[in-house]
Amino acid sequence: MAEATIFDKIINKEIPADIIYEDEHTLAFRDINPQAPFHVLVIPKTPIATINDVDETNAHLIGQLYVVAAKLAKEHGFAEDGYRVVMNCNEHGGQTVFHVHLHVLAGLEMGWPPF
Ligand code: 5GP
Repeated sequence: MAEATIFDKIINKEIPADIIYEDEHTLAFRDINPQAPFHVLVIPKTPIATINDVDETNAHLIGQLYVVAAKLAKEHGFAEDGYRVVMNCNEHGGQTVFHVHLHVLAGLEMGWPPF
């Protein structure tokens, strides 16, 4: 079981967040420090610390993050122009909260590479 993080408090509504989507398994809320005009975090309600902890038993929860990301991008009008989804892993990936989350970034044209 992953260690509790700030995202558990958001899932349990112990601290406020700008939640824009919720279902049985998934939650999406606006990033507190947005890096794009639209910057949402999509997380599983089940705590999975990093991508390294994804396996056959929980892969469906990760797949669902992409389903929600695509749904939100369409609903908010970013599907055609495009957007970026990012999942950071550990120190070199820039992960700071150890509960897996998809960043969904949209609303501007982004560059590549990302460093
Ligand atoms: P990471 O660096 O782990 O990929 O991304 C963590 C993200 O969580 C960061 O973009 C950070 O701004 C966001 N974040 C951290 N704490 C909170 C919080 O309490 N509320 C919200 N809405 N976002 C948070």
